[in-house]
Amino acid sequence: CHSPCTFSACSLPTPKWLQANDLQKEVYQHLAYYVPKIYCRGPNPAPQREDMLAQHVLLGPMEWYLCGEDPAFGFPKLEQANKPSHLCGRVFKVGEPTYSCRDCAVDPTCVLCMECFLGSIHREHRYRMTTSGGGGFCDCGDTEAWKEGPYCQKHELNTSETAEEEDPLVHLPEDMVVRAYNIFAITFKYAVDILTWEKENELPGLEMIEKSDTYYCMLFNDEVHTYEQVIYTLQKAVNCTQKEAIGFATTVDRDGRRSVRYGDFQYCDQAKSVIVRNTSRQTKPLKVQVMHSSIVAHQSFGLKLLTWLGSVIGYSDGLRRILCQVGLQEGPDGENSSLVDKLMLYDSKLWKGARNVYHQLFMSSLLMDLKYKKLFAIRFARNYERLQSDFMKDDHDREFSIADLSIQIFTVPSLARMLITEENLMTTIIKTFMDHLRHRDIQGRFQFERYTALQAFKFRRVQSLIVDLKYVLISKPTEWSDDLRHKFLEGFDAFLELLKCMQGMDPITRQVGQHIEMEPEWEAAFTLQMKLTLVISMMQDWCALDEKVLIEAYKKCLTVLMQCHSGFTDGEQPIVLSMCGHSVETIRYCVSQEKVSIHLPVSRLLAGLHVLLSKTEVAYKFPELLPLSELSPPMLIEHPLRCLVLCAQVHAGMWRRNGFSLVNQIYYYHNVKCRREMFDKDIVMLQTGVSMMDPNHFLMIMLSRFELYQIFSTPDYGKRFSTENTNKDVVQQNNTLIEEMLYLIIMIVGERFSPGIGQVNATDEIKREIIHQLSIRPMAHSELVKALPEDENRETGMESVIEEVACFKKPGLTGRGLYELKPECARNFNLYFYHFSRAEQSKAEEAQRKLKRQNREDTALPPPALPPFCPLFASLVNILQSDVMLCIMGTILQWAVEHNGYAWSESMLQRVLHLLGMALQEEKQHLENLNEENVVTFTFTQKISRPGEAPNNSPSILAMLETLQNAPHLEVHKDMIRWILKTFNTIKKLRESSSTSPVAETEGNIMEESSRDKDKAERKRKAEIARLRREKIMAQMSEMQRHFINENKELFQQTLEELDTSTSGVHENSPVISDAKLTALGPEQTRVAEHRQVVMCILCQEEQEVKVDSRAMVLAAFIQRSTVLSKNRNKITPDPEKYDPLFMHPDLSCGTHTGSCGHIMHAHCWQRYFDAVQAKEQRRQQRLRVHTSYDVENGEFLCPLCECLSNTVIPLLPPPRVLFNRSVCFLNVLNKCSSGNAEKMDQLQLPEGFRPDFKPKNPYSESIKEMLTTFGTATYKVGLKVHPNEEDPRVPIMCWGSCAYTIQTIERILADEDKPLFGHLPCRQDDCLTSLTRFAAAHWTVSSLPAVQTHFCTLLASLVPNEKNGNLPCILDIDMFHLLVSLVLSFPAIHCQDFSGVSLGTGDLHLFHLVTMAHIIQILLTSSTEENGMDQENTNSEEEVAVLTLYKFLCQCTGSALKEISSGWHLWRNLKAGIMPFLRCSALFFHYLNGVPAPSEIQVNGTNQFEHLCSYLSLPNNLTCLFQENSEILNTLIESWCSNSEVKRYLEGKRHAISYARESNKLIDLPDDYSCLINQASNFSCPKSGGDKSRAPTLCLVCGTMLCSQSYCCQTELEGEDVGACTAHTYTCGSGVGIFLRVRECQVLFLAGKTKGCFYPPPYLDDYGETDQGLRRGNPLHLCKERFKKIQKLWQQHSITEEIGHAQEANQTLVGIDWQHL
Ligand SMILES: [Zn+2]
Ligand SMILES: [Zn+2]
Ligand SMILES: [Zn+2]
Ligand SMILES: [Zn+2]
Ligand SMILES: [Zn+2]
Ligand SMILES: [Zn+2]
Ligand SMILES: [Zn+2]
Repeated sequence: CHSPCTFSACSLPTPKWLQANDLQKEVYQHLAYYVPKIYCRGPNPAPQREDMLAQHVLLGPMEWYLCGEDPAFGFPKLEQANKPSHLCGRVFKVGEPTYSCRDCAVDPTCVLCMECFLGSIHREHRYRMTTSGGGGFCDCGDTEAWKEGPYCQKHELNTSETAEEEDPLVHLPEDMVVRAYNIFAITFKYAVDILTWEKENELPGLEMIEKSDTYYCMLFNDEVHTYEQVIYTLQKAVNCTQKEAIGFATTVDRDGRRSVRYGDFQYCDQAKSVIVRNTSRQTKPLKVQVMHSSIVAHQSFGLKLLTWLGSVIGYSDGLRRILCQVGLQEGPDGENSSLVDKLMLYDSKLWKGARNVYHQLFMSSLLMDLKYKKLFAIRFARNYERLQSDFMKDDHDREFSIADLSIQIFTVPSLARMLITEENLMTTIIKTFMDHLRHRDIQGRFQFERYTALQAFKFRRVQSLIVDLKYVLISKPTEWSDDLRHKFLEGFDAFLELLKCMQGMDPITRQVGQHIEMEPEWEAAFTLQMKLTLVISMMQDWCALDEKVLIEAYKKCLTVLMQCHSGFTDGEQPIVLSMCGHSVETIRYCVSQEKVSIHLPVSRLLAGLHVLLSKTEVAYKFPELLPLSELSPPMLIEHPLRCLVLCAQVHAGMWRRNGFSLVNQIYYYHNVKCRREMFDKDIVMLQTGVSMMDPNHFLMIMLSRFELYQIFSTPDYGKRFSTENTNKDVVQQNNTLIEEMLYLIIMIVGERFSPGIGQVNATDEIKREIIHQLSIRPMAHSELVKALPEDENRETGMESVIEEVACFKKPGLTGRGLYELKPECARNFNLYFYHFSRAEQSKAEEAQRKLKRQNREDTALPPPALPPFCPLFASLVNILQSDVMLCIMGTILQWAVEHNGYAWSESMLQRVLHLLGMALQEEKQHLENLNEENVVTFTFTQKISRPGEAPNNSPSILAMLETLQNAPHLEVHKDMIRWILKTFNTIKKLRESSSTSPVAETEGNIMEESSRDKDKAERKRKAEIARLRREKIMAQMSEMQRHFINENKELFQQTLEELDTSTSGVHENSPVISDAKLTALGPEQTRVAEHRQVVMCILCQEEQEVKVDSRAMVLAAFIQRSTVLSKNRNKITPDPEKYDPLFMHPDLSCGTHTGSCGHIMHAHCWQRYFDAVQAKEQRRQQRLRVHTSYDVENGEFLCPLCECLSNTVIPLLPPPRVLFNRSVCFLNVLNKCSSGNAEKMDQLQLPEGFRPDFKPKNPYSESIKEMLTTFGTATYKVGLKVHPNEEDPRVPIMCWGSCAYTIQTIERILADEDKPLFGHLPCRQDDCLTSLTRFAAAHWTVSSLPAVQTHFCTLLASLVPNEKNGNLPCILDIDMFHLLVSLVLSFPAIHCQDFSGVSLGTGDLHLFHLVTMAHIIQILLTSSTEENGMDQENTNSEEEVAVLTLYKFLCQCTGSALKEISSGWHLWRNLKAGIMPFLRCSALFFHYLNGVPAPSEIQVNGTNQFEHLCSYLSLPNNLTCLFQENSEILNTLIESWCSNSEVKRYLEGKRHAISYARESNKLIDLPDDYSCLINQASNFSCPKSGGDKSRAPTLCLVCGTMLCSQSYCCQTELEGEDVGACTAHTYTCGSGVGIFLRVRECQVLFLAGKTKGCFYPPPYLDDYGETDQGLRRGNPLHLCKERFKKIQKLWQQHSITEEIGHAQEANQTLVGIDWQHL
């Protein structure tokens, strides 16, 4: 490291400073002189040079001055003397993982950095992880942030010694304190002055040393203009290239400003005006400023100084404190004149980069010093209003604003409390908030109508104030001082003022006649309500903590509510209602005719406080302090009731003409995000009001508000109403309204699960919510969380109770873990649970009935037994037995009995039955809990036994139920009615037993006994009815069939595939050639009887036999380039036009894979189909210009049956070898060929028996020939990425290569899965390999004969060298299996002209032996046999001796360059392992070529696989025996192989070679804990823009490279198009196919080519068996190995492209994504 001090030591500004009288002047002079000389010397910044010079000339001297000695010694000394802070305070980078403990964090904003988290106790707790958005710091060591374990191991060490309140200055020498104070004061002030400087041509307190005419045209960032706009404008304005423009735009976006031109004033000003002119057409022009270069220079150094200060105070807490002191010291201008104040107040005018720097300094100084944190908090609170107002006008996001620091200050409980009491913070925040929402209507309510875009923007910003309020309230006080009470209530007052402005806002009136013209604005009001929900709840929580506060708050709230509704005004006339001998006075008001509002926050807050009076028992302890007598129940219920009636009317379709805005409002009113402080509280308010009223009065008022009073109060009105042939819609409406009203009564009486209303605790409440959610269906953890309300700590409280009510079912390979309701909890199910939506209710009903049927129970769903009410609400139960209620129930039952007309509904009856059930349950519970003292006042059973009075003389409710029991039209409700009657009897017995002596239980038993027979008959009848119902359902089902098929596509596909297997699967498996030894090739080859193979065309359904001379049948196939087996991903792809693919390199860096879905068509049927697809696609593209999941122009299409992506077809052929075979002498050819070559052959110097003029007759039909060419050309085109050319001599090579490569991939998959070689391939792969091999064998018949012959000779020459073929690869550089396949498949081209009498089979065998021997030598040469380690058995078997001999010969040939090995055992073991893949591939190859069935031993995993393979392949078990025949010739061969110069270079260690067996490629290893990946990604920076954090770091799962995806910086040009880093990477790493993990999103990305891609679920699951795509929930994620294996298998099987195709077909939006930009 260079020493920065030498310069300052000799040029000596420092000593001068030491003695200086006016230090500031000296320093300023120094800066004025040097800064412009160092910074801003040209158009482009040179940060390295600038930093280096600044350190030498500017900062170095300051460090010397500060330390009083060489800082290289001074700083370490300081560091040592420092008692380091026990706060971590690490400031988070963008994307860095942060952790919060759900058990111990005081609030969710308390986070730990990864290092602290790993060393803390919280890693064993329930934690949550997120990625930081940048800013914010680690809270480790902050005792206020954690309920437990505030320190990690690292930071705990320091706590024991540090006395909390010790002044850190005592650790510093006194003179240093003075010097630090001086230099900090000067530099800090300099930096603040220059950064807040507004003049363009002068400097603050600095002389312009040289006033040159150099300016910058500075472009500033805003959040309004897009990247594209800026880039476009810059290209025009400053005449730069697009690349430069992108560079400028990137910097402007990152730093907030960038000079785009450098030169004299006029030159810069010109650019400025062009930019302004070009962008002013949009909302607001870009900000541009022409600045003198000196100012820019000083500003650059100012920022550098702030960073420097931040690092210097890192050495010592004492220095930190001095800096804090300097920063907060009041300046000469009094209030707000400290440097910190100045910066804060100038914040919104600073550019982003400057803000970031000083915010960071604040965080590492003021927020790290406990004393000054408090002082700073006060400054922040005092400036709060101003800072927020600045922020409203600021066009930067909040994360770049100083206002965002509130999260660091307000969330500290002690600071928040202090700011509330001393600075009245609550009131300040609320008042500031109100100040920014100025639009009010005449009643003073908020008005959001006619909202402009600008106001909407502002409104979004204002909402951050609510977040601040939430922070302040988040930690609740444990102790209350009078001051706190006073200030809280003052804040509460302000809050009530706010709610008052919301009470009744956005009123609506029912639209009649025509639809509303414009949907009214409603979202703003709801957003406000939604954001405030948590705050309202927290206000109540605070009130609940202190009795005095609660009483005062209740009084205040009531006063405000009365102000809101001062009396019944608005011409609401009093009217009198009377029914059943009761009468009540109310007002004339119709929801359907007058204004009504959904927003009633004041009523709802009062309702909440009222419940608290009961919950905290204040209502019972201090009734005299409460204004209970002032409460007017009718006033309390009026508005909530109107709101609920509105919902009912909307549901009844009465408000259709008011459009969707109303529907949306009603939706949110009930939604889980709002309901807690909306719908729920309205129910509470009704409960509150009714508990203080005569229930008869309430019911009449309710009837009146529902506009149903007439129907129930007028005798026989119902009859008229049902027979009268009035408007059917009106009757329907009334039916719905009656249903809704009954539902409301059920809720008022039944909803008692909030603590304070019923005698329950919070756990009971949450349990009930979960039970009802799970009654609908089993749910995943995240679904449940979404269905439950979250508190301010983002907790639902679910985890603590879920075990009690549900069982967890783990997920399989797909899907997610599910919670299932425990069976015993089903009895708590309430069909009319108030949080069910209508759809949920009917689903739950269906599910519960089904469950009961499965358990062979009756299907009644009676109301569950409920907990008792708290005393304050106890009188509510009387609604059920009130006269008006009985009248309503009686009337409805009467309608059901009469069963005439349509003015009646089953749901109505169902609700009445439910209410009856509730009443009976109530009475039963009363009786059961009866004790001596109290009298049972609940006498429902008596009341329903009484018949109606004159003049109606209607039958009693009980009698009507008995009648209904046998009504045929009420089959569904029969079980419920029976349950009611049974319960009625039970109660009667209970009553009797309580009044007299215990009644004999036996009586009941007998009764039940007798009823059993009756039950039996009943059940039979029911079964019949059920059958009829089933039939009806079946009819409906068939109607829905088309829909069903779509829904269950996957299932259908499976069946299709199964069918398929059974038709085309006439395979070789059937013939039993049992005991005979099976041989796959050579003269000894087992003869196989030929099968007729008959297949069916999926397009025309015609059957046809596969024959040489018939029409071609084809398989849909997909050819792709592949690097799956590659051992060298960095290989540069050669120019495809010149590339010679004849030899495959053993690194298999790029192969051609062929796959097929196995579906068969006629060639002509396919042709027709493909033409049609093409035509359709062309039309579609012209019309819509949309992409499809397949690229027709590239020959792609979807298999017509399974929609599998395909790009060509393979013809089906009979076994080809039989056709070409003739008895010919082969050995001759081999010998002659090896000494000659193709050229010679042309010159007729041919061995005996050759007839070069002989043209073999092509046995295939025209149609098959055509398909041979089609597939061959496709392989060539895709494999080499060239234009199709069927004449190219490389076509046959590519065909053989694809055959070899595909066999190799399949062999690898089988080996990896530990499956036997034969008998375990899926049908489609089996079919594909058969066709592919037969095709490759037949292809020579359509290519140029001389070309194939030349290929054969060249191939052979690589093993049997001769002088003329000098440039062939050495045996180390040839993949032997590819060579084998090519040799065998090209051989017939030679053989067909050879009439010397050797069979093709003999030739195959010789070729196979030759290649195998070469492979053995290859393995021995490259083997890395280590003799140590393994236990060796000294068996000295024949094989071992032989291989050792061979090896020794090899050593001889290579001039002893080979490693000496003396263990034959090791060598043989190594050789066997190395050659196995080759033998297995060969077995597959010859099996598919010749059709010889595989011996049963290799169809299972077992011992001696090697021996069985050798036998099948006609090889000796002792492979080295091959060398012993013709040993002389072979020794010459070996010698010639070894003498190759490349082999020599390898042996000398000058080059690398592949060794065997090649290991299978796997995807990279992923860590178990996902946060490791997040951390890795957060340390990754974009490789192109110098150390910048990448926005979308993306990991290649194939090679492990991290990429900077989806951003301009890393776009590159590929084939003339700009593509993102991922797409570019796929071309080198995966030949177009890629598998990535988007780390920030926790999402797998599949890419293929430039236009195809899809997302795939990541292999990471949380403890609940769910993935977290987008990392939204933050539960800890762990690797699921099975799912990762599944992804790996997709890759190994080459199914990625297919997977993408299916995903895109299923989800069309995926097609539109610009995948190439990722
Ligand atoms: Zn930390
Ligand atoms: Zn720590
Ligand atoms: Zn914890
Ligand atoms: Zn056909
Ligand atoms: Zn198919
Ligand atoms: Zn980048
Ligand atoms: Zn890669």
